[in-house]
Amino acid sequence: MSEAATTEAAAQGELGTVVIGGGLAAAHCIHELREGGYAKPITLISSENEVPYERPPLSKEFLQGSKPALELEPFPGSWYTDADIAMRLGTTAESIDTAAKTVSLSDSSTLGYENLVIATGCRSRLGGRNANMTGWDLPGVYTLRSLEDSKAIKEQLVSGKHLVIIGAGWIGMEVGASARAAGLEVTVLTPDQVPLAVAMGSEFGSHVAQLHVANGVQCHFGTGVTGIAADPGKGLVVQTPTGDIPADLVLLAIGAVPNNELAVAAGLEVGSGVVVDQRLRSSDKSILAIGDIAEAYNTTLGRNMRVEHWDNAIRQGKLAAATILGRDQSYDWLPYFFTDQFDLGMEYVGDRQAEDDVVVRGDMASGEFIIFWLRQGVITAAMNVNIWDVNDHLRSMISKNIPVATLQDTGNDLMAL
Ligand SMILES: Cc1cc2nc3c(=O)[nH]c(=O)nc-3n(C[C@H](O)[C@H](O)[C@H](O)COP(=O)(O)OP(=O)(O)OC[C@H]3O[C@@H](n4cnc5c(N)ncnc54)[C@H](O)[C@@H]3O)c2cc1C
Repeated sequence: MSEAATTEAAAQGELGTVVIGGGLAAAHCIHELREGGYAKPITLISSENEVPYERPPLSKEFLQGSKPALELEPFPGSWYTDADIAMRLGTTAESIDTAAKTVSLSDSSTLGYENLVIATGCRSRLGGRNANMTGWDLPGVYTLRSLEDSKAIKEQLVSGKHLVIIGAGWIGMEVGASARAAGLEVTVLTPDQVPLAVAMGSEFGSHVAQLHVANGVQCHFGTGVTGIAADPGKGLVVQTPTGDIPADLVLLAIGAVPNNELAVAAGLEVGSGVVVDQRLRSSDKSILAIGDIAEAYNTTLGRNMRVEHWDNAIRQGKLAAATILGRDQSYDWLPYFFTDQFDLGMEYVGDRQAEDDVVVRGDMASGEFIIFWLRQGVITAAMNVNIWDVNDHLRSMISKNIPVATLQDTGNDLMAL
């Protein structure tokens, strides 16, 4: 669609699509809209000052200095200009009037919409199981969600400093690996017995723990934190029931919470996130929600789910565009995610539940293996660790009923299973 045509539409006061949020889901939604021939005005409202960028490298390559900020952008800044997207960067959406179909912004302006897409993502959790923890707001205590956060942490990644990470989820463990690569002393604290316990279970969690210990990370598992205090002239101390741990900097990595306040105040149905159907439409049919914020109905799994992963943000951004364009598509794919820590790279696909049986193919000690999760003999999820170009095939194996011995036998060609 030509720029002249969309500008003319806006000049005639034609209502179009307003997207709240400047993350990956938002970027892919508006990109797909224009690629699909959407000619009406599109406005992107983002609290951040940057054009949308990818967050996964913020705890990995960007933090380690091997990927510059410009390479994080899925579409260059010039694309938004060329595609005639009205960019309202550094601007926060403060309220939605569903009756008037308007959004009020922090610069006191109001925008009308025909379709509104909420893509407000998540923010770092500050409480959680550490709800009574004091000192999380002291200088030197960081959270990691944005490019700005990653830049601030990167400045402190000076060899010899001591970083204490509270939380042993994906972001905590990834930053731990990046900080060790920069020569810092790293301590990780979690009340769980292994890292990633909730997400991946104890088998893979133990493997990740061994990897970090082997790379010099001090792991204090089964250890909660009661508070963080300033130690004048010395830095910080992290207080635990078993004693104080001195730190030059602290990363609070205890999870994320969805930015769903706008949706709640607007009267939309909100559960673990904004509740949307398989086409990502909320309880108000002119409002869609996508990415980390969306609790969407997955037609393959037959239930609602909210997924905080990169692949989902991209796919749901495109699906919301398809819905607005009137295409008959739905949320039918399985969750996928990846991580990189030290020399471990992995990809996961599927819908593992805590009670599923675990089947390992290969020798975990070698660092190259595949884990399958099975429920009553049926594969529910799979993960390839340091074995590449197999994840699409693993995806095709989900729902199959393959004997455990066949899965485990590395003499069987995986691609033939
Ligand atoms: C450090 C880090 C590492 C990660 N690593 C991985 C990984 O290895 N693998 C993986 O699969 N996933 C990873 N993820 C998760 C992945 O990045 C997210 O799932 C994805 O970014 C979600 O995209 P989103 O567009 O839904 O939300 P976000 O990317 O969070 O974007 C939300 C945007 O909305 C803006 N916003 C919020 N409220 C308002 C408002 N009221 N008005 C205007 N703007 C607003 C925010 O400022 C932000 O720009 C990582 C995330 C982080 C933070």
